[in-house]
This record gives sequence, structure tokens and C-alpha cells, in this order.
Amino acid sequence: MRDEFRGNEPKATRVRCAVYTRKSTEEGLDQDFNSLDAQREAAEAYITSQKHLGWTLVSGRYDDGGFSGSSLERPALQKLLEDVDARRVDCVVVYKVDRLSRSLLDFARLVDRFDQRSISFVSVTQQFNTTTSLGRLTLNILLSFAQFEREIISERTRDKMSAARRKGKWIGGTPVLGYDVDPAGRRLDVNEKEAVKVRQIFELYRTQRSLTATVNELNRRRWTTKVWYSKRGKEHPGNAFKKASLRRLLTNAIYVGRVEHRGVTYPGEQQGIVKPEIWEEVNADLRSPDRGRERPYQRQSAMLTGILRCGACQKPMSPTYTAKGNRRYRYYVCHVARHKAWNACPTKSISANLIENSVVAQLRAALENTQTRESLKVPPSDWLSFQSGEIFPFVRAITDTVTFDGVRGEVSLKLREFTNLGDGSAC
Ligand SMILES: [Zn+2]
Repeated sequence: MRDEFRGNEPKATRVRCAVYTRKSTEEGLDQDFNSLDAQREAAEAYITSQKHLGWTLVSGRYDDGGFSGSSLERPALQKLLEDVDARRVDCVVVYKVDRLSRSLLDFARLVDRFDQRSISFVSVTQQFNTTTSLGRLTLNILLSFAQFEREIISERTRDKMSAARRKGKWIGGTPVLGYDVDPAGRRLDVNEKEAVKVRQIFELYRTQRSLTATVNELNRRRWTTKVWYSKRGKEHPGNAFKKASLRRLLTNAIYVGRVEHRGVTYPGEQQGIVKPEIWEEVNADLRSPDRGRERPYQRQSAMLTGILRCGACQKPMSPTYTAKGNRRYRYYVCHVARHKAWNACPTKSISANLIENSVVAQLRAALENTQTRESLKVPPSDWLSFQSGEIFPFVRAITDTVTFDGVRGEVSLKLREFTNLGDGSAC
């Protein structure tokens, strides 16, 4: 299995490697550590270590002394890119990723350019080798992070969506029990039969005051989550309720005629099907801290609590938020920045949505591969529920640590074998 994973024995074709080094003036050209020569030496040693794979050093030197990494206007880099375009090299080797660029966008563009020409990229001091699958996984994370940055720069669509949400419009997503999406896809209509079930589920929880007990009863009745059909007529079967999906149902403001957007709810266009006082009562109970023991993570606790670490300080980053008007902005803040001194940590904080979306997108991309899923022992049913939107428990079951380096904008995920966190089990 392991060996299959590694693929065929690499052929000993010649891999022409170019070493790129850079040092900015403020970093001190004469300083020994990390000097251009030191970078080159480390890179050359790495190339030598890969000799059995056919790696050889090209004769040209690409050294930018006294240039900042924030722009691509560097003579040696330009020369390197010329040689890349002319396919005079097969592999670009650097000492550290930030030698190539300090801008995430530029970096993504460069690696894209290498990729298109099938040129690999190796950073000798970081797990960043695009010739191995692990390297590729890390690479994807950076690229997608840049993608999200880009999306933030062009926030227009997002604002449009926000406006639609604030006006209470249905803007798509997975339909929920109790409603059908009208054929034009722009409105939610009450499904009377399901609405009865939804009201009963709220009642059940009100009397049981326990997610586990309610889930057991729902499973006994063989009630499932919404069965729905996509526009193309593909059937999405319902799943047996688990604690996570039940919780999502009970906390969904859609049932009292509201829509949620970024933590704030607005009056929706759809008709409510649960009495507001009942919804409030159930949600107050779900939010109550006494329930902490039953739930390994609370709704208010963030997706990456206990998982996210600051790469610079090697300390946890914990969730927090600021409120502006009736909007909430969620962040993760490095322990050092929060409890010692803000400036003591170069990472400081990161927008929660940004990093959570990045992590989810990466998991999606990485686990698309059946082999990867098998090697991490991901149960097919959990993969399916992840794809249909059951994000939170899945992320926590598969992710060991997420390290964020705010200076480089690097997010790296360490995955582990899938461990079910006891969702749906008795407790
Ligand atoms: Zn820190």
C-alpha cells in the first residue's frame, strides 16, 4: 500500500536544478546566517542529496543581493524566469519559500508559471517539495489561500450576496427539512408534511433536553434529514440524524422566518414554521454552558479551537470576535499577542472566516482523492456528509493541527487518521 502510494520508481532522467537566493538590504547582506552563500550552500547540499534521482546543478547563478521580496523586479529572478520560460531548468530550489516572494499573490503566480511548464519547486528548509504528494498538499494550501485573498479584494459579488441575504432572500444552498425550493430556485415554500415533523422535533427536544435522546428517538422513528433533488433531478437522500445535524436543525433561524448571514439574522421572505418562543427556548437551552459536557464543542466555539497554532510563536490561536453595530467579526488571535504583547507576535490575528474557508477548501481538494481518503481511514458516509455541508465535525475528526504563519501567509494542515469524535454515540 505504502509502496503503491509512492508510485513507480522514478527514472533517472536528468533534473536540471537552479538555485535562487535573495537577501534584502534590511536583512543585512554581510550577516553570516542566511547570507546568499549560506542559502546557496544549503540548496546545493540538498541537490547533491537527490543525486540518485538525477538532480544536477545548472551552471548559472541566480542571486539577488539587496532586493526586497515584495516585488518581482529583481534582476536574478527575471533571469531565472527567462530560463524557466525557455525550459532551461527543470527544478527551482530555494532555501526558504519567502526567498522567492513575500507576496502571496506573486508567489502563487510564480508557482503557477512553474507548474505550467512542469517545473518543480523545492524549498529546502520547509516541507515544500512539489515533486511529492505531501509537498503538493502544502502547495495547494498556499494557492487557495491566495485565491481567498483575491476573493476578498473583489468583494463585489459577496456584497451582492450579503445584500440579498439582508433582504431575506434565499440565495441557495442545501434545502432543509420543512421547505422546498421553488422551481425558479429563488424562494422557499413550506412543505406542510415536513413542517409537522420539524415542529415535533422541536417539541421532542423541549421535553428531552438532550441531543442524544432526541437523536435516538428520531432514529427509532426513521426520520431523516431532507431528501431533495437537484435541478438536474439528482436525488440527495436523507441521512439518519446525528447530534450535529440535529443541532443544526434546531439552531436554524430559517424556522422562525429569518435568514442568517455572518452571524446576524434578518427577516426572511419565507414563512416561519416554528413558534418564535419555542425556538428561543430550545436555543437558549442549547447555548447554556451546563450543556458543555454533552458537547465536545459548542456552537459558539469556533471550528479551529484547539487545532489552530501560530507558526511564529508555536502557541495556540484562540477565537474571539469584535462587534460593529449588529455585525460580528470573528478572529483567531495568537496566545502571545493576546496575553503578552500585541507586537510580540508577528502573526497576531487572522479572520476566522478566511482561515476556516481556506482549511475547508483544502480538505475538500486533498480528500477528493480516494486513495488519500482510504489511507486516512475516512468512512465514506462521513465524507458524503462533509460534502453535503456537515463541515464542523468532519474538520475536527481529520485535522490534527493547522499552523498559520501570518508573515508568510502560510497555512499548513497536518491531517490524521479519521477519528470519530463520538457524534451520535451515547454519552
Ligand atoms: Zn504568535
